[in-house]
Amino acid sequence: MFNSIPYGRQHIDQTDIDAVIKTLQSDYLTQGPAIESFELAFAEYIGAKHAIAVSNGTAALHLAALALGAEKKRVITSPITFAASANCIEYCGGEVFFCDIDPKTLLMDLEKLESLLNTHPSGYFSGIVPVEFAGLSVDLEKLKSLAEKHGLWIIEDACHAPGARFSDSKGQEHKAGNGKYADCTIFSFHPVKHIACGEGGMVTTNDDVLADKIKLLRTHGITKSPELMGKNDGGWYYEMIELGYNYRLTDIQAALGESQLRKLDDSLNRRNTIALNYRKAFENYSITIQDVPSNQFHAYHLFIVQVADRKGLYEHLRENKIFAQVHYIPVHLHPYYQAKGWKKGDMPSAEAYYDQCLSLPMYPTLTNEEQEYVIQKVVEFLDNSAN
Ligand SMILES: *Cc1c(COP(=O)(O)O)cnc(C)c1O
Repeated sequence: MFNSIPYGRQHIDQTDIDAVIKTLQSDYLTQGPAIESFELAFAEYIGAKHAIAVSNGTAALHLAALALGAEKKRVITSPITFAASANCIEYCGGEVFFCDIDPKTLLMDLEKLESLLNTHPSGYFSGIVPVEFAGLSVDLEKLKSLAEKHGLWIIEDACHAPGARFSDSKGQEHKAGNGKYADCTIFSFHPVKHIACGEGGMVTTNDDVLADKIKLLRTHGITKSPELMGKNDGGWYYEMIELGYNYRLTDIQAALGESQLRKLDDSLNRRNTIALNYRKAFENYSITIQDVPSNQFHAYHLFIVQVADRKGLYEHLRENKIFAQVHYIPVHLHPYYQAKGWKKGDMPSAEAYYDQCLSLPMYPTLTNEEQEYVIQKVVEFLDNSAN
């Protein structure tokens, strides 16, 4: 009936194409005005003071970690995430610790985090990288108070959650990444995420010093600022004052990103409608779905079901050209992290979740007909396997 239905896909329309063409015909392909324009638009949308565009979400994590001083430090993250959330600490020569998930929200379990912090001497850990998994924010208010008590910084990995929001205990609404609760928040613009740049990433922060540091490290640690240079030989002169990287986004990508950003709210609404349809359709089946606390607006990068025979469902959907995916293989079980001493049994909730999880198609251009077909195939499998 349909060609094939992936779990996620980008939506590029004529306005996106026009924005890219306009940049191609301009004077700048990189480090031009499209970058600054995208950064300003993104900062305004999220409600943060600074937004710094970088080449991808992993680079955003790396620069945020460097700016916060993660070198040789111990940092805690969730095992249910893309490996980059942990790897950024390794890049800095730091050591990653995992804290198990809450099986209901699939986010880092803050009670377990608290006992992890309480069973180690003060100063043992330096930071936390919470992950807004699938598009749902961790309880940032509670996390921030724990972080303050234990002297930890927070890098919020919101790659799944641009536009996710929540009300705090005073009833005030916050968008993930607005800088109120995290020192830095990072986003990815990989095509499976909400905003597609091809490759791309962003760091948001309300801290001027962190913002300057990230901008410096994004371009080799090179500066032309008179106040940062030891001398000035003339108009050509610059100084490299730190060891930085080339983590720049191009203007071509930034133009696409800004055009995509304008459609984010429509996309979030459509994603929420799709999620509601799935939830209703599966109400009477033995399927577990992520809990959404009532003070939260979910960004639904992913819609995940947990079923007893996950492999069976995965194969059944593939046979019907529905390409569901698994997010994620617990990071602590990858050979790289096992070689550092992590093993099966360390994170029971994350491991139990992994045995049953499957991400169903979730993207704004998924049609009602396509979704009905997906639902029909899921239900068909469950009915058959129940007999
Ligand atoms: C996609 C993703 C990243 C990495 O982003 P890239 O742009 O692919 O480098 C990091 N963390 C999470 C949770 C992600 O989903």
